[in-house]
Amino acid sequence: MKNAEIAKIFYDMADILEINDENPFRVRAYRRAALNIEGHPKDAALLPVEELRKIPGIGADLAGKIREITETGTCADYEKLKKKYPAGLTEILAIPGLGPKTAKFLNDKFKVKGIDHLEMLAREHKLKGPGIKEKTEMNIIKGIEMLRGRQTERHPIGKVLPSARELMEYLGKSSAVRKISIAGSLRRWKETVRDIDILAASARPDELMDYFVKLPQVSRVLAKGPTKSSVVIGYGGNGIQADLRVVEEDAYGAALCYFTGSKEHNIRLREMAVKRGLKVNEYGIFDSKGKKIGGQREEDVYQAVGLPYIPPELREDSGEIEAALKGQLPSLIQLSDIKGDLHAHSKQSDGSYPLEKLIEAARARGYNYMALTDHSKSLGIARGLDEQKILEQIKMIDALNKKLRGFRVLKGVELDIRGDGALDLPDAILARLEIVNASIHSGFRQDAARITGRIVRAMENPYVNVISHPTGRLIGEREAYGLDFERVLKAAKETGTALEINCYPARLDLNDQMARRARDMGIPLVISTDTHVLTHFEFMEYGVEVARRAWCGPGDVLNTLDLKNLLAALAAKRKKLAAV
Ligand SMILES: [Zn+2]
Ligand SMILES: [Zn+2]
Repeated sequence: MKNAEIAKIFYDMADILEINDENPFRVRAYRRAALNIEGHPKDAALLPVEELRKIPGIGADLAGKIREITETGTCADYEKLKKKYPAGLTEILAIPGLGPKTAKFLNDKFKVKGIDHLEMLAREHKLKGPGIKEKTEMNIIKGIEMLRGRQTERHPIGKVLPSARELMEYLGKSSAVRKISIAGSLRRWKETVRDIDILAASARPDELMDYFVKLPQVSRVLAKGPTKSSVVIGYGGNGIQADLRVVEEDAYGAALCYFTGSKEHNIRLREMAVKRGLKVNEYGIFDSKGKKIGGQREEDVYQAVGLPYIPPELREDSGEIEAALKGQLPSLIQLSDIKGDLHAHSKQSDGSYPLEKLIEAARARGYNYMALTDHSKSLGIARGLDEQKILEQIKMIDALNKKLRGFRVLKGVELDIRGDGALDLPDAILARLEIVNASIHSGFRQDAARITGRIVRAMENPYVNVISHPTGRLIGEREAYGLDFERVLKAAKETGTALEINCYPARLDLNDQMARRARDMGIPLVISTDTHVLTHFEFMEYGVEVARRAWCGPGDVLNTLDLKNLLAALAAKRKKLAAV
């Protein structure tokens, strides 16, 4: 039993409790436990109860439930609660953006039988009336469309990559494997992927395929053959297809290039080959007489068509071939270029760990600094900090920094941009901080002019350094705000405000294309994890990959700077705007 499955049960329990108007503290306790279990680095099934109790938010009662779940697959309380679940509600609760309260309301009033029924009611405008606005109706339809798309099409990379890596680890243990790699859009780090593509070189394909289809993760075998097998790993809505292709070692590079894609990129390569009287495909590189002349390494393919090697993240036919021909491929940022994390929450707002633990985790990653950016006061649900608490935190950090050697905590805040556009803390407080990340957590559905205006106004403040999760989208769950992004870019450029690539896998916000626009305009970017539990620091690689897909080098990203230069860069905006 995986941590995610335990978390799912706790999330469900929280939803049912909320629907039945039970104590909000219990609802929150289950959600918090779910979040912490989900993010816990160790397998909860393998931990003794005493260890489970050390996870934040897990007391004796919840530790007992976790044990019960890992031993029996469920727990008595969950089964009891499920009986309180009105029929038809399970299905519609899966609709993104539809909260438990509204779902319950719809179910009570319209006796909704399921998603199809709800969609029909919404499209015929039968939901509208007391308690349901026309906008809610539209959002329900949007949510249903999103849910359908998600079921039939693509999965967020954050959900797929851990499974793919686990699969790779198992496959790597087979002695029949000579070479192996993830391929497809997952290797290109697209933010959503349809399936997991794996390519292997082997002289004993039958043996390898036998091994593959019997792996413990496999819930269903779709097809099995000597060159390609397809399976489903995981269950239900979490199930994802994984394809393993096996080729001979001397065609491995050509096949890897072919199966990594993108299709558009490969078409360009093939056209260039034809012009040189060559043919490239998944079997190798061939001359005009059909004689095989290469294909063992991926580099061979690029060399054959007269190009330098192009990293997978750039293979979208979005200018990479032209840049490669001119010798102008960017030298892409790497995870090891990152010197610190500029967005993290401690226990003082809605994080789960005290600052000391965050520092330990950041240092363990080799960082030189991190910014503590707890929420500001108007974010009540996240226990946002008021002026007094910020001042106390500043003192605490100053004292701590005196004791730290070779590491620095930056005094910061995640400053809420309120619904009316006002900033949540006065300039006098902001002036005492070293980094201010401003962001929107309310009024997502305001029109473009209003919501863009809020962000632009925040950027005009001399103390706001970064706009965090600038578009607010959650992959497959919530669309970006109706934002005039060009106006945001222009204001960022003019005011010297950085834009964040938020690494949280459900966010990845900015996305690759927007980040590339920002980079092209010379707007500084930061790549930050928005850490709430210690393991979230590991999400940094997702953000770095977004930046790579956005053609960024280390020079485009502020948190590749050493401490001194970072502080100077952060202070520059204050000086510039104060001077005007
Ligand atoms: Zn936030
Ligand atoms: Zn945050």
